Amino acid sequence: MLEKREILGWVTFGGRALVVHPLQVAFRGRPGVDRFRENFLPEGLVPTSAADRRLLRGASRCTSCHLCDAAGASPALPSLVPLVFARSSLDLVHARPALAALAARPEVLEEGERLCPSGVPLRLLADWLVDRLAKVDAAAGGGAP
Ligand code: SF4
Repeated sequence: MLEKREILGWVTFGGRALVVHPLQVAFRGRPGVDRFRENFLPEGLVPTSAADRRLLRGASRCTSCHLCDAAGASPALPSLVPLVFARSSLDLVHARPALAALAARPEVLEEGERLCPSGVPLRLLADWLVDRLAKVDAAAGGGAP
């Protein structure tokens, strides 16, 4: 048999869950999500959408054969895109010079894709990484250092 104060506790708990919390979400949104993004997006923790995950499946086809690296003498090797840069957005800021070098020579990635036996979408991945880096920069206060 429940005691009076236990019943009161369950009513209070249920009232918060069923009434107060939905009203808070309806009127002020989900501030926890916003605060999470404010805190972690500048550090490189970019949300990954379903479309991002589909693109990353292309990166996971990479077998580390390094045939694409024969594409050209760009300062950055094309194989770094799927093997290093696409692995984690946390270190993306350190990939900035290499991504810029690859963006300046799109023919290297194009040739790398032609040489790749696994069909890794190097150009799409590089564009996607540049876009993610821009999101990190915007969250960090706008602009690369
Ligand atoms: S050629 Fe393709 S599979 Fe080989 S390292 Fe380059 S991207 Fe990866």
